Amino acid sequence: MCLLVSFSCAPPTPTPPPAPEAVTPVPPATTTPSPSPPTSPEPTPSELKVHFIDVGQGDSILIDFGETEVLVDGGNKSPGVTAYLKAYVDGPIEAMVATHPHADHIGGLIAVLANFKVDGIWLNGDTSTSQTYNEFMSAVNAEGAEVHVAKRGDQIKAGSLILDVLNPIQPLSGSTNNKSIVLLFSHGSIDFLFTGDAEKEAEASMLSAHVVPDVEILKVGHHGSRTASSKPFLQAAKPDRAIYMAGKGNSYGHPHDETIAALIEVGAEVYGTDICGTIVVTSDGKSFSVQREKQCAPRAPPVIAPEPAKFVVSDLSISPGEVIAGESVTISFDVANSGSTTGTHTVTLKVNGGELATKSLTLDPGQSQRVTFTAKTESGGTYTVEVDGLKGAFTATGKAVSGALAVSASVKFASLGGGTQTLYATVTLNGHPVQGADVGITVYYKTVTRTFTASPTGSDGKTQISWSVGRPRGGYTVKIKVVATYQGQSASTTTGFYAP
Ligand SMILES: [Zn+2]
Ligand SMILES: [Zn+2]
Repeated sequence: MCLLVSFSCAPPTPTPPPAPEAVTPVPPATTTPSPSPPTSPEPTPSELKVHFIDVGQGDSILIDFGETEVLVDGGNKSPGVTAYLKAYVDGPIEAMVATHPHADHIGGLIAVLANFKVDGIWLNGDTSTSQTYNEFMSAVNAEGAEVHVAKRGDQIKAGSLILDVLNPIQPLSGSTNNKSIVLLFSHGSIDFLFTGDAEKEAEASMLSAHVVPDVEILKVGHHGSRTASSKPFLQAAKPDRAIYMAGKGNSYGHPHDETIAALIEVGAEVYGTDICGTIVVTSDGKSFSVQREKQCAPRAPPVIAPEPAKFVVSDLSISPGEVIAGESVTISFDVANSGSTTGTHTVTLKVNGGELATKSLTLDPGQSQRVTFTAKTESGGTYTVEVDGLKGAFTATGKAVSGALAVSASVKFASLGGGTQTLYATVTLNGHPVQGADVGITVYYKTVTRTFTASPTGSDGKTQISWSVGRPRGGYTVKIKVVATYQGQSASTTTGFYAP
């Protein structure tokens, strides 16, 4: 193996290996808890290095232990890892693992297969129709290596190194990422967990199989995406150091703030290849240190902006279910604040677009309140509850049922020959006075028919019509037909008087 500090080993490559002496190293872990009680005296482990190679948006991890090398993924075809590996690989690569067939994991392995002898190749058994996958499989088949399909419970052995396969289970199921090969690698009492692109579904599967131990170093799943690194998984793995592998300014927004926050919450120091470049963990099996290619501090807890108060209306009810125009209805609903800050909003009740009532509500995050409005409606119709103008978002429809329209009328006879007669009409709907009803009368006497209309009824439901009978002759009965119309309904009655 080639020591990092040795100049003669430095490859002629644009991606030089990290120079640990040039940056601030992380102090070695002081405690190295062992998941199992110490057994017979271990053979003194020699120095092991795990390289988290900066391949931009992708994964590539090299385990280098003396003359034994294990490569887990190779990033995309470009930039590739061949130049980087040349500095560290002595003889063949004992084991190559392709966690899953995505190009950001297998692309760079094609050139690795062309440039190095590989003894054993471990695949997850998934296939793809991509050109990169076809090229990779051609290279795998041309290599003449032993090819294995990994499943939970398998062990990958390379020299004295043993890697336990925690995922996938066979036959495969789930998404491409969730079929990733996940590896637990223990060097002395230092445990590494390499997760590929496994997401929450694979994490849940591993948790239910109780195969996730407390580890020292976690390669964060799926480039730090929020689709991986569930809280239960992180609580089980409880890494001291978490390393995510992502390209600077990648289009996925990896790593996500939630992931960084969750990793810090379980006590991890978090580093990423997007900021630190290649990261190398060196361990003697009892403690470890972390070297970074570029000067970088552990990720600070992200400032997750508080979510503004957001009021949500639910469980609307309207009583009575059948709204009889002119009567009171009671409308009630829950308002909840689903944001993370306290807020005050105006809640408005409208009927058929017209505002009936408003209330101002202040709610703390997570709080909810039942709000009740009682309103009198003229017509029934569509009731809308609005929160600060979120129009149409919340609608309760009362069934508009019109009661029976009725008109009653009486007439006051003054006199013939220019006297003014007056008709009084009262219009009601379901017994309630109706405002705005049109009233018309038709007056018949002898052979004459005349019609008159009145102003619409007032809030008391009343209106009146005055007219005079010109040059009449006495001895006749005057008949009057009264018709009231209101919202498409009409009602009529007749009245009259005798002209002496
Ligand atoms: Zn990936
Ligand atoms: Zn993937």
